Amino acid sequence: MADRLRAMFCDHLSIMRGKYLPASKMRDDESRVAQALFSVHYDKDLLIDAPHSKCREGIPDMVFKWKGDEIREGWEPDTKVVVSDLFNSDGSPLPLCPRGALKRAQAAWQTHGLTAKVGLELEAYAFVRNEDGQLVPYDNPGGVVYGTGNFTDPARFTDAIWDAAAEAGFRLELITAEYDTPQFEFTLTYDEAVKAVDEMVLFRQMAREVAYDHGIILTFMPKPILTKGGSGLHVNLSFADKDGHNALSNGEQGGPEFLNDLGRGCVAGWMRHHKGLAGLVAPTALSYARLQPASMSGYWCNWGGDHRGVTVRVSAEGGKKARLEHRMADASANPYTAVAAVLQAARLGFEGKYALPAPEAGDCFERTDAGFGVGANLTETVADLEADKALCAAVGQELCENHIFMKRAEVDKTSTLEGNDLRDFYIWYV
Ligand code: GLU
Ligand code: MG
Repeated sequence: MADRLRAMFCDHLSIMRGKYLPASKMRDDESRVAQALFSVHYDKDLLIDAPHSKCREGIPDMVFKWKGDEIREGWEPDTKVVVSDLFNSDGSPLPLCPRGALKRAQAAWQTHGLTAKVGLELEAYAFVRNEDGQLVPYDNPGGVVYGTGNFTDPARFTDAIWDAAAEAGFRLELITAEYDTPQFEFTLTYDEAVKAVDEMVLFRQMAREVAYDHGIILTFMPKPILTKGGSGLHVNLSFADKDGHNALSNGEQGGPEFLNDLGRGCVAGWMRHHKGLAGLVAPTALSYARLQPASMSGYWCNWGGDHRGVTVRVSAEGGKKARLEHRMADASANPYTAVAAVLQAARLGFEGKYALPAPEAGDCFERTDAGFGVGANLTETVADLEADKALCAAVGQELCENHIFMKRAEVDKTSTLEGNDLRDFYIWYV
């Protein structure tokens, strides 16, 4: 096959969009698509007049631009891939661009001489189509948590993902089975924030495509099976200082007692912006089937040490490995926007010297010190986001306005759906 470039960007719905282009485009270059994409929903409903999408202004173009030195190996034959930034047609940055929001967040931390490093953990469920064409969970009755081998994955699709990842040069930390069946976890090696999210969106796309070649629909949506555990997108954060040292490190030991001012500020920021964050990082109707008390995800406004019941887990590892884990997001969020929101809330806490509440002392099943959790549903958390003016301004006012409008439309679209119909509103795209 002739060499080609697959240039892509991750949109507001966390969908990868782009074009196949000839090899002559393998350099700093650009292409155009309609800006009204930002008013398109999962059900392909178009032109719902979302703010800043220009869908009632003649559906003009926006430009996606990529850098030649960011073009990397892909997973299809003779096809390289690249992730792009979005611009208005006059060349100015498009405020709705999620990757742009993450670049702004990274730059804001850089004014403190700190480079945010991010490690992302992805959880996903596997489905197949049955003879009637319906989607049913992949059959792996011998699957167990931390399972490996063919009892966990009889079709060996995770082996194919491992191989494709190695060939394309993705740096995988691990693949294993998650708590429920048929649920899997994929952890990528940490990197500078924008690079880490670029790798994550490409890896996720590759994993979904390789699985689909095996007849498997791999979904990263937060709660595809209501009676089983949810799937999260945990964000592990550390910072490199100007000398490349881990700025969260406070000696060789980790854990809450060894948090330095930087770590304390980040955690305090996440606590203060807990409710508003949910509207951005857990942004679909089924996110709130996952974010529930006692769900080992980011429901409660609390933090602690090596404790899976809290939203912010301070790693017990210190020194070079010192890090904070924010457990609220799920991969139905645009991961650029989600990581930008996590970084900006942390920065607000650090710069504002917010007071840090005491760490969680309860088990988070029967007892918790947390005074409150996230809103009960997308309607509530979108309102919480709108009310959190500081967070919206930090992440990007126009981006948040578009997001809030689109999420209210999503509430309308999904309010009459239940069970598998609600699942299937999302499953092919997330
Ligand atoms: N599946 C859990 C979640 O929804 C997380 C389990 C874990 O890895 O600790 O976030
Ligand atoms: Mg996990």
